[in-house]
Amino acid sequence: MANRKRVLITGAAGFLGSHLCDRFIKEGFHVIGMDNLITGDMRNIEHLFKLENFEFYHHDVSTYVFVPGELDYILHFASPASPIDYLKIPIQTLKVGSLGTHNLLGLARVKKARMLIASTSEVYGDPSVNPQPEEYWGNVNPIGPRGVYDEAKRFQEAITMAYHTFHSLETRIVRIFNTYGPRMRLNDGRVLPAFIGQALRGEPLTVFGDGSQTRSFCYVDDLVEGIYRLLFSDYAMPVNIGNPDEITIREFGEEIIKLTGTDQQLISLPLPTDDPKQRRPDITKARALLGWEPKVARAEGLKITYEYFKSLPEKDIQHKSFTNYSK
Ligand code: UDP
Repeated sequence: MANRKRVLITGAAGFLGSHLCDRFIKEGFHVIGMDNLITGDMRNIEHLFKLENFEFYHHDVSTYVFVPGELDYILHFASPASPIDYLKIPIQTLKVGSLGTHNLLGLARVKKARMLIASTSEVYGDPSVNPQPEEYWGNVNPIGPRGVYDEAKRFQEAITMAYHTFHSLETRIVRIFNTYGPRMRLNDGRVLPAFIGQALRGEPLTVFGDGSQTRSFCYVDDLVEGIYRLLFSDYAMPVNIGNPDEITIREFGEEIIKLTGTDQQLISLPLPTDDPKQRRPDITKARALLGWEPKVARAEGLKITYEYFKSLPEKDIQHKSFTNYSK
């Protein structure tokens, strides 16, 4: 069909990017996926290759991006997104959020496309207000281990707003809070895959610090729905999308022990530098502007995610190193 709307999704082989590809295919778009596969996995999108309205470019958006033909929308989801990844590939993390975003904004201008960027609750750093509304400016350490991600994302928001105000580009900014679901990397070091992986391997669950720090976990389908609605709204300022159901990491570990039926216990390891003590989205704006709120309770989402991890090949479950850095 020649008149399908065309959307470019960067980070297409990643966790969120691949779910977005599925959603836009389902909605009848022509989807162009792009990924450099440093942290992405082609298995997340291989089911799409048989479709005529899907194509894929193996490309690093930190270098000049060329896409032939028209583009109506660009969704920039390429980025390492776990603290372990930022430690291992800090320069790439900085480049994809800064240079990559600049390249894609340029592409959006040329194509007259609307651009949505994936920002993050990390722009709030270790927040001194809870929950975090969009108006909160954050408490970020620029030179700490998380600074490469946090500051790249803050720069990404700044340059996106500049293109919006100076070039009148249509832009959208989603601030994503902790999200989980099938296709997360079991070995990316994030707390949910870490705990489930440990339970599956029969290892103790590693709680960092005393486990009193909080997070609020959003199921991926809810997140994708929020992003879809934001893209088609007329609101250019940042919008938090996340689930406000807040839990301490220790309680979360206990939930995973119950879910998996493991006989393992929680053990304590040192708290990483600058680990935020609390995180919970204020979603007043998403509710009012998009009529959106999360629908999937943690118990339900965790069950689906656990089934997914259990179904992975044994070698993936046993594999503990984090990223394909050799690529
Ligand atoms: N965490 C933990 N054990 C792990 C991995 C992470 O206790 O094996 C903690 C981590 O210190 C943080 C929280 O879980 O307080 C969430 O960490 P994650 O890396 O998933 O994401 P963040 O929200 O910190 O970016």
